[in-house]
Amino acid sequence: MARITGPVCRLCRREGIKLFLKGARCDTDKCAVTRRQTPPGMHSYRRGKLTDYGLHLREKQKVKHYYGVLERQFRQLFQEAQRSKGNTGEALMSLLERRLDNVVHRLGFALSRAQARQIVRHGHILVNGRRVDIPSYLVRPGDVISVKPRPKIVEAIQANMAENRHTVPDFLQVTAGPQPEGHVLRAPGVDDVSIPVQVQLILELLSR
Ligand code: SF4
Repeated sequence: MARITGPVCRLCRREGIKLFLKGARCDTDKCAVTRRQTPPGMHSYRRGKLTDYGLHLREKQKVKHYYGVLERQFRQLFQEAQRSKGNTGEALMSLLERRLDNVVHRLGFALSRAQARQIVRHGHILVNGRRVDIPSYLVRPGDVISVKPRPKIVEAIQANMAENRHTVPDFLQVTAGPQPEGHVLRAPGVDDVSIPVQVQLILELLSR
């Protein structure tokens, strides 16, 4: 399972915005973006203006890091978005938002996408009552996301839900209680992404 390893706060500092990769810490004063406004690395303040290519590249990297997706998988999703009918940018963001690890995080079952990915990989998440342990699994409208009925797992998920500071997006509905459950109400779109994204720049870069 390919995933991003290494210090993730550097990724946020590189993009200059919070990508919420560390869970609860991201909402505290310890956040590296809040403490230091400069990009990582030595002499970063000396670097000049970004080129046109640089602007396009940064936008793509920002989205990749936000969703915890590596280059090959990102390009595969782009190709899938190109094959779909309608707007490619909208389709690309929808595919990324529909990933099971993203949905588990946005429902509040996990405090970060990395934690959500681990919860999924360990087989603690059920989709329509069946165990799904593939973080890149794409949910569909009408799907019901639930937690394996094991007291320790349910307790951990409930603790995450209590600690979660982010609102659940419109395309999802969450039911708390003894057995937490999430419902996918509709297919997500660009407006459901919680960070500012200029999808056009990504499309221009990947279409070159
Ligand atoms: Fe990014 Fe979170 Fe680190 Fe802040 S604490 S820099 S939002 S990963």
